Amino acid sequence: MKKSPNDLVREEVLALAAYHVPDAAGMVKLDAMENPYALPLPLQREIAELMAGAAVNRYPNPQAPELKARLRRVMAIPEAFDILIGNGSDEIIQILIQTLARPGAVVLAPDPTFVMYRMYARVNRMRYVGVPLTPDFRLDCVLFLEAIEEHQPALTFIAYPNNPTGNLYAESEVLRILQAAPGVVVLDEAYHAFAKKSFMGRLADHPNLIVMRTLSKVGMAGLRLGYAVGDPAWISEFDKVRPPYNVNVLTQLVAERLLVHVDTLNRQAAEICAERGRLRTALEPLPGVTVFASDANFLLVRVPDSGKVFAGMKARGVLVKDLHGSHPLLAQCLRVTVGSVEENAQCLNALRASL
Ligand SMILES: *Cc1c(COP(=O)(O)O)cnc(C)c1O
Repeated sequence: MKKSPNDLVREEVLALAAYHVPDAAGMVKLDAMENPYALPLPLQREIAELMAGAAVNRYPNPQAPELKARLRRVMAIPEAFDILIGNGSDEIIQILIQTLARPGAVVLAPDPTFVMYRMYARVNRMRYVGVPLTPDFRLDCVLFLEAIEEHQPALTFIAYPNNPTGNLYAESEVLRILQAAPGVVVLDEAYHAFAKKSFMGRLADHPNLIVMRTLSKVGMAGLRLGYAVGDPAWISEFDKVRPPYNVNVLTQLVAERLLVHVDTLNRQAAEICAERGRLRTALEPLPGVTVFASDANFLLVRVPDSGKVFAGMKARGVLVKDLHGSHPLLAQCLRVTVGSVEENAQCLNALRASL
C-alpha cells in the first residue's frame, strides 16, 4: 500500500494553509508594498552589463564579502556586529526560528503582525504567543511585559513599523521590552526607508537584540535580499543553519551595485512618503472611512464594508489587500500600498466608486 500525503506529511504542515498570492496580471498592484518605480535607464544598463559578466557557472561566495561590506557602509552597521544574509528577510525569520526551536520554546509577538512569524514558529513546533495590540494598534506594554514574564520567550518579534497596521510603537515601550525579554528580540525594520527610525544604534546596549531589514520594500523585492545584524555570538549560530548558497550570484552583484546608488532609492522612498501624505489627505474626508497612522509605504484603511470595496476596486483594476477576517482588530480594514502618482489616483477613484 502506497502512503498518501495525509499519512506522511507532518501534522504541522498539513494544518497550514498555503500562502496565497493572487494573480495580479494587468492590475494596478497595491497589495504587497512593492516600490512602484523602475530603475533609471542608465542604472538599468549598468546592471545589465554587470549581470552579463557574472560568473553564474560558479557557486556564490557564501560569505558575500563585497555585499556585506557595502551594506555595512551604506546602512551604518557598527563594526562590532556581524551580518546574516538571507533570501529575503522571510528566510532570516525561518533561520532564526529553526536555530531556537528547542522543544517547548516560545515565540512572542504583538498581534496582529506579520504572519510569517507565526507560520514558521508553527512549522518548527515552537509555541507561538500573540499579545493583542490596543484597538488603535499601540503596544499594550503591561500585557506584553506580563507575557514575557509568564512565557520567557526564546524569541520575540517586533515589526517596527508594524505590518499590517503601519505604525511605529513608542520607542520607550520597545526599550522596556528589550530590557525585560530574556531571549532574542528581533526588531524587524522592513520599512526602515520610510520610517527612518531604527534600533541599529542601540545594538551595543542590548546583547540579545537583532536588527533585521530587507531590500524588498525599497525596490528590490524581486532580488530577495534580507539581512540581520547582531552580536557575533548569535549570528555565528544562526549562520550554521543558513543554507550556504542562499543568496545567489546575481542577487549579490546587483544588490551591491544598487546600494552604491542608495541616493536614488532614498529619493524614491521620500517620494512615496510624500504620496502617502497626499493619499491620506484624499481618503480621510470620505464618508465612513478611517485612515490609521502610518510610517510605512502603505495605509491601513477602515471602510464600511471591506469585502464590497475590495471587490469593487478589483473590478476597476486595482488590487489591494482585504484584511477582514484575519484578526478581530482588523475588521473591515484594507491595506493599501502607496504607489506612483498615477497609481494612487486610480486607487483613489476606484475606492471612491466602490464605497
Ligand atoms: C515584507 C516584510 C518582510 C519580508 O520581506 P522579504 O525580505 O521580502 O522576505 C518581513 N517583515 C515585514 C514586517 C514585512 O512587512
